[in-house]
Parts: sequence; C-alpha cells; structure tokens
Amino acid sequence: MSGYKTFTMIKPTAVKNGHIGSILDMINNAEFRIVAMKLTKLSYERAEKFYSVHKEKPFYQDLCTFMSSGSIVAAVLEKENAVEAYRKLIGATNPDNAAEGTIRKLYATSLQENAVHGSDSDENAIIEGDFFFSTLEKY
Ligand code: GDP
Repeated sequence: MSGYKTFTMIKPTAVKNGHIGSILDMINNAEFRIVAMKLTKLSYERAEKFYSVHKEKPFYQDLCTFMSSGSIVAAVLEKENAVEAYRKLIGATNPDNAAEGTIRKLYATSLQENAVHGSDSDENAIIEGDFFFSTLEKY
C-alpha cells in the first residue's frame, strides 16, 4: 500500500532566486499538507550523509558542495500516495525533460540545481524526514 508521507527540500539556488513562496504555493494548490517545515542549511558533511546513496557517482562532490552552499527549506508533506504524487508535481530530475508546469520546469536552473528534492520511496521519505525533524517537530 502506498504511504501518505514524502519529504522535500527547496534547494539553495531556488531559495536564492526567491522561489520559496511560489513553490510552497504549488505544494498547497496540489493539496499536500505540510506537517513539518524549516529554513536551514546543510554542512558539507551533512549533505554527504544525506546523499550517501550517490557517493560513487561522478557528481557526488559537486552535489554536496552545491547543497551546502546556501539556505534550503526542508519539509515533510502528506497526501495520499505522496511520493508518486509529489514526483509528478516536481517533474523529471533533468529539467530539460520535465513536463510543462512542473516545479523543476518552472524553477530549475540546471540538472544539478533542479530547484527541489523529492523522496523516491515511502521508506526513504521516512528516513529523510527523520534526518531533519524530530517526532516533536512533526504536526
Ligand atoms: P532525484 O531523485 O530526481 O533528485 O534524482 P537523483 O536521486 O538521481 O539525484 C539526486 C540529485 O543529484 C538530483 O536531484 C540532482 O540535483 C543531482 N544529479 C543527478 N544526476 C546528476 C548528474 O548527472 N550531474 C549532476 N551534476 N547532478 C546530478
């Protein structure tokens, strides 16, 4: 059965470019419930840990440098079938391939700086949410 939770980050370039409000508006309009949210910043070491599944990839260091380069917004979202529904809202990893009207199509500046993160499974949604938020910070 599909889960109700997913996890997202608004990445540093999208924050710097002033897109927090527009992206949250799209999340609200798509009827996700925000159950936890904060503006924060990843250290390089925390970014390495978050993206450790990619540690053998050639882009791993660049990705960790980028993700620790500025403020991010981290949030836990709820909706029926949340992981799949959110990945549909954000669009393909590479914004060149993202559908019109998706968050990445509208706000990404490159493959790496693709505006937002979205969990890829129910299991990772829980792990990633717990990476940023304690039980007491989820409402
Ligand atoms: P996602 O689940 O759609 O975010 O995609 P992945 O889990 O495959 O990749 C994680 C993140 O790494 C992506 O969101 C991009 O920011 C970055 N990324 C993925 N592929 C590449 C790549 O080929 N080059 C670079 N520079 N970054 C990439």
